[in-house]
Amino acid sequence: MVRLPYLDGFYELHPSKIVALARNYAEHAKEMNSDVHKKPVFFLKPPSALIGPDEPIILPGMSKRVDHEVELAVIIGKRANRIPKEKAMDYVLGYTVILDITARDLQAEARERGLPWTIAKGFDTFAPIGPRVVDKRELSIDDLEIGLKVNGQLRQLARTSEMIFKVQEIIEYVSAIMTLEPGDIIATGTPAGVGPLRHGDRVEAWIEGIGKLEEDVLAEKMGNKHQ
Ligand code: MG
Repeated sequence: MVRLPYLDGFYELHPSKIVALARNYAEHAKEMNSDVHKKPVFFLKPPSALIGPDEPIILPGMSKRVDHEVELAVIIGKRANRIPKEKAMDYVLGYTVILDITARDLQAEARERGLPWTIAKGFDTFAPIGPRVVDKRELSIDDLEIGLKVNGQLRQLARTSEMIFKVQEIIEYVSAIMTLEPGDIIATGTPAGVGPLRHGDRVEAWIEGIGKLEEDVLAEKMGNKHQ
């Protein structure tokens, strides 16, 4: 169970699902050779993939290429079913930083064979989150710096204003398909600059006004298992 600082106390994360946007920044869609779609494209990550700040990301032995993707996470505060975008923000509790860790080789194989991304996106530790939850009343998310470094080297740097589908539109679209429950998490897509992680790496991911999430990366074959 992951617990993050929130207001004067803590917020326990118990999502029924993690909804994750694909290609929501044009530059990232370009680097993945994907078209930008007219409607949001999303998939689900299992809540079992969540880890808190300073828990290691474990590189699974089944993959030879695991990538980082830094994303703004939206936490749902109220049951949301068929919500128009004008009302969408009433259903938001707050924000944090999430990494949509991806086994890129397994994703490429799935794309090629027309199979779902469940495996590529779903390993344990593939959804680091934190360092805290910021209440929606404390932060406007329209234009924030979002970035990621590996071992001190800048890999991703963009602004949330570059998102193709805004949070309100994402909530409208997703809630017309599946009810969003309190605690559910929406990962709003990653900007350009995704790249591989290796055993021993140190990842720093941040969003202006939220803070910095830091994680170590360990290879499963070195005897590391997520507890
Ligand atoms: Mg992603």
